[in-house]
Amino acid sequence: MGRFFVSQAVLLCLAALLTSCGQSEDNQTVDTVSEEENSTSMFAMNTYVTVTAYGNDTEAALSSAEEKIRSLESLWSVTDENSEIYAVNHSGGNPVEVSDETAQLLDFSLQMNERTNGAFDISLYPVLTAWGFTTEEYRVPDDDEITQLLERTGVEKISLDGQTVHVPDDMQIDLGAIGKGYAGDLVAEDLKQNGVKSALIDLGGNIQTVGTKPGGESWSIGIRNPFGEGNFGVLEIGECAVVTSGGYERYFVEDGNTYWHILDPETGKPAQSGIISVLVIGAEGRLCDALSTSLFVMGLDRAANLWRNSDDFEMIIVTSDGGIYITEGIEDDFTLSKNFSQPEVSVIRR
Ligand code: AMP
Ligand code: MG
Repeated sequence: MGRFFVSQAVLLCLAALLTSCGQSEDNQTVDTVSEEENSTSMFAMNTYVTVTAYGNDTEAALSSAEEKIRSLESLWSVTDENSEIYAVNHSGGNPVEVSDETAQLLDFSLQMNERTNGAFDISLYPVLTAWGFTTEEYRVPDDDEITQLLERTGVEKISLDGQTVHVPDDMQIDLGAIGKGYAGDLVAEDLKQNGVKSALIDLGGNIQTVGTKPGGESWSIGIRNPFGEGNFGVLEIGECAVVTSGGYERYFVEDGNTYWHILDPETGKPAQSGIISVLVIGAEGRLCDALSTSLFVMGLDRAANLWRNSDDFEMIIVTSDGGIYITEGIEDDFTLSKNFSQPEVSVIRR
């Protein structure tokens, strides 16, 4: 059930994206239509990835992007026995030397734990495993088991000295909430280095763009309706990252209760903050990815407070009761779908 829904969600997301981008393409001038479009698709980082580049001779850049994604996946996979994260998780408490990219991502993850007052926590892997989110063999652990597992979490017990990381023996980390966002950043950088001026990277619905669409037009991004099929709106963006976290992305139902894959580090249980999906937009994919997961945990009020104290992201939050909340910085870039039943959007202001 969970797996079916995930693949459907991804397909819907991709369909939405293709539709919205396609619509805008119809409006392009003759000049911009002549820009060549090339794309490459693959299954990586547990999701469907598509990189589309516009311009002449982008094949080599796309091959390089594909290689980059594969290499990052092989660094950060929790299951690949040759990955750096696997080495860290099976180090027996010994220090492990990691690549610069992994060290940067770990360092940033530890900073995000502080910035979100603990809501973003890469040390939850033992708890996620107990719930079956790592294997899809789902179960509801009892409170005693969760209490014991929480003793094996806590990023303050992780230390990072340059490229040497130390994770205690009984702990395990996972970068599932941030890796795709950082991969978006690094792939965008790689494309630019290879001369690409206009591109869209789609990592399972997490979007990173390079430049604008050919001709200077903005990209139109369809935003998945968390309650059912289709989109609830469209966002017009320039060069940036757009990352979404939702309770509908991976979940299971037992005895009438729905349990999703984003855990509250305080309780060790699926976060019940009243939020059903969060979209974060900003210049950095790694920031947007870390935030989309942690704002989901924090709930509307804490998320709004964090936004008010920040200047590096904007967000759209959908609550379980159907409320849509959007921060003022993207008010003019968002259009609600005509056929979406919830007609009201509340704007969060500074
Ligand atoms: P995302 O789809 O980016 O929101 O990431 C969700 C994934 O992050 C889950 O499948 C877990 O692997 C992991 N995760 C769950 N809860 C948390 C949390 N509170 N902090 C960091 N990672 C988490
Ligand atoms: Mg995330």
